[in-house]
Amino acid sequence: MDRQQLLESLCQAFGPPGFEDEVRDMIRLTVTPLADRVEEDPAGNLTAWREGTSDKIVMLDAHTDEVGLIISHVDERGYLRFAPLGGWDGRLFPGSRVTLKGKEGYLAAAVGFAPPHITPPEKRDKAVPVEDLFLDAGCRSKADAADLGIAPGIPGVLDGPYRKLSDSLILSKAFDDRAGCTAAIEILTRLQGRELPYKLAVNFASGEELGLRGARVAGRRIAPNAALVLEATTAGDFPGVPGHLSPCQVGQGVAITVADRTMVTSPKMLRFLQEVARDRQIIYQLKQPLFGGTDAGEIHLAAGGVLTGVLAVPCRYLHSPSSVMDLNDLDSLINLAMAALEAMPGKLV
Ligand SMILES: [Zn+2]
Repeated sequence: MDRQQLLESLCQAFGPPGFEDEVRDMIRLTVTPLADRVEEDPAGNLTAWREGTSDKIVMLDAHTDEVGLIISHVDERGYLRFAPLGGWDGRLFPGSRVTLKGKEGYLAAAVGFAPPHITPPEKRDKAVPVEDLFLDAGCRSKADAADLGIAPGIPGVLDGPYRKLSDSLILSKAFDDRAGCTAAIEILTRLQGRELPYKLAVNFASGEELGLRGARVAGRRIAPNAALVLEATTAGDFPGVPGHLSPCQVGQGVAITVADRTMVTSPKMLRFLQEVARDRQIIYQLKQPLFGGTDAGEIHLAAGGVLTGVLAVPCRYLHSPSSVMDLNDLDSLINLAMAALEAMPGKLV
């Protein structure tokens, strides 16, 4: 499978926080032949290990989950109430389509809302609070829903088919963070057959969107000497966003985090990443502080403190089913992560 096919199938896989099984299964199949061993923990992390010639450990991290939802209540007429899993903008829901993972398999549903014809004029321009939204999976009653395996606790995601917009721009759900997962797999592929000067732990983390839950466990278990988090992040290069509110831009290369809400990057790590990028002539941009947060927030605090860097693919309309990213930015991220892994011995680890 080439990189684009891998990215497409990972993006289209189902994986809201806590329900990453399908994504994890795909990744396990792909990385098992590329790793010396693969381990999983009860928090839902999957870690692919490569042995090295020293006891130092370098960690790569990409999260497997995507923003999603969970059914909270089924009413007598078969309509479903839900709660968001992760940082959603509630304005995105009305009119969207949802895939639910019922006990018997996947099911389609509409996010129902009252159309303008039956909405009082004073309410028409207002966003509907998520608590007032519901899903219509075509169930005729509560019993009918139960027959289809739909009950409180069933997870769902908004549908966002994968499309090519141009030579390098693509549209899909879940680039956050299947772009990072794709990069991590590509790096394992490129390192095949090469002797490493340290152990490499490539962690595919669960539950990032609900507060970096998998990374908290994985950072402590792996206890690395240095770490790189591979992410997708918010770009603001579109109408209506002033420059000072635009964290980075699509098509301008990998975004290196200076500081976000979960970590201030150590000056040593930041300088190292920029030097490597300049040496190898890899196009990059610095992400404007202080937007967002990543698994680095947990990893840099693990095991007595870990030098951690964040490399991200800029994405427009992040946390929506229609995000846009540039494949050239993904290349730039993979190239910088590879170059950093090669330059680390003697400088960082
Ligand atoms: Zn993310």
